[in-house]
Amino acid sequence: MPAQETILCSRCKKNPAIVVRNLSGEVTCKRCFMGEIEKRVRRIMSRYKMMNKEDKIAFAISGGKDSITMLKIVMNIHGNLIAQQSRRGHAPVAITIDEGIKGYRQESLDISRRACAEAGLEHVVFSFEKEFGLSLDALVSKASDPGKLPEFLEKKPRGQLKNAGKLILKPCSICGVLRRRVLEDVARRLGATKLLLGHNLNDEIETFLMNVFRGDVTRIRRAASSLLDDNPEFVRKIKPLRDVLQQDIVLYLHHAGGQFQSAPCPYSVGDVVFRGEIQGILSQMEDSHPGSSYNVMKFLDETFPDVKQPPVESSISRCSNCGRPKSKHMGKCMACYYVERLCGKNYVEVMDSFISRHA
Ligand code: SF4
Ligand code: ZN
Repeated sequence: MPAQETILCSRCKKNPAIVVRNLSGEVTCKRCFMGEIEKRVRRIMSRYKMMNKEDKIAFAISGGKDSITMLKIVMNIHGNLIAQQSRRGHAPVAITIDEGIKGYRQESLDISRRACAEAGLEHVVFSFEKEFGLSLDALVSKASDPGKLPEFLEKKPRGQLKNAGKLILKPCSICGVLRRRVLEDVARRLGATKLLLGHNLNDEIETFLMNVFRGDVTRIRRAASSLLDDNPEFVRKIKPLRDVLQQDIVLYLHHAGGQFQSAPCPYSVGDVVFRGEIQGILSQMEDSHPGSSYNVMKFLDETFPDVKQPPVESSISRCSNCGRPKSKHMGKCMACYYVERLCGKNYVEVMDSFISRHA
C-alpha cells in the first residue's frame, strides 16, 4: 500500500495539519491553532482594556472547560503582566464556589484545585454548606416543601410577578443568585479589581438571542454594559473567552492537556430547554452559513455602543440589609432573602465571617 501523504499546516507549512477550521476551510497544526485562539483572547482583552498592571485579578474557576481554558490562556499570554501585578502586592486569586450538589461538584472541585495549584494560584473555596449552613441540595429540598415556603412568597404576587414565586425557588435561580453574588463579594473583599469569568462566545450570543426572543431589552442592555462597566461599587467582570467558540475551547483544552468536568449539573435538565432551542438554531445556521455566531457577536458589539452608562443613582432601589441594588418589589435583595428565609442566617454576617478567615 502506498504511504499516506502527510497534509501540512496551511499556515506554517511545516507541521502536520490536525485541525480543520470551519470558517476559513484552512487545515492547521496544533501550534498554529492554539496560537490563533490565544491571539483572539489577547485581542478581545486589549480591545475592552480588560487588564492592566494596577489590577488584582480574581479567576472564577468552576472546573468546567471554560474556566480551566480561560485560566490556562490568560496565564500563558499575560504571565508577565500578572507577575508585575504580583510584585505590586496584587497577586491573583482563584475563587471556586462549592454549591453542594451531590455526585457532581466533588469532581470539579478536585479539577479546580489541581489547575490552580499548577498555575501557582491562591485558591479560595466558598462552600454553601459550610457558610450558609445548607448545601444547594438541602436548599432546593427546603424550597420545594410547601410547609416551609419562605414568608416573602405569602404575599400573592400579581401581574408580571405572578410566576415569580415559582421561579425564584427553582434550583438554578437559588444557585445562580447566590453563586454570582458570593463570587462578586468574595472577589471585591479580597481586594480584586477584576473578576475573570469563563463565558464563551456561544454563551454570550445564546443569552443575547434568548433575550431577543423574550423581548427583554433591559437584560440585553445590562449584559452589553457589563463589559465596560466601571462602576466602583462592583468588581468589573471580564470575559476573556467572549470571542472564542465553544468547540474551539474544547479543542484547545484537549491539545493543552487540561482536564475538565464534562458531566452536566443534574439540575440543568429542566432549565436548558429554551437555551437548547437557541443552540439548535445557531448550530443549523453555522452549518449552512459558517461564521454566523461571529456575526451575531459583531452585531451585538456594534449595535450597543452607548450602553455603558451605569444606571442613575436615584433609580436604584437598595437592599435594607446589605445595601446592594434590589428589585423595587422587594425589601431586600434576593441573596439576603435566600440566606435569611431558607438558611436562617444573615448574608452580611456570613460574608464578614468568611472574609475574616481568608483575607
Ligand atoms: Fe447551579 Fe443550575 Fe448551573 Fe446547576 S445548572 S450549577 S443548579 S445554575
Ligand atoms: Zn441584600
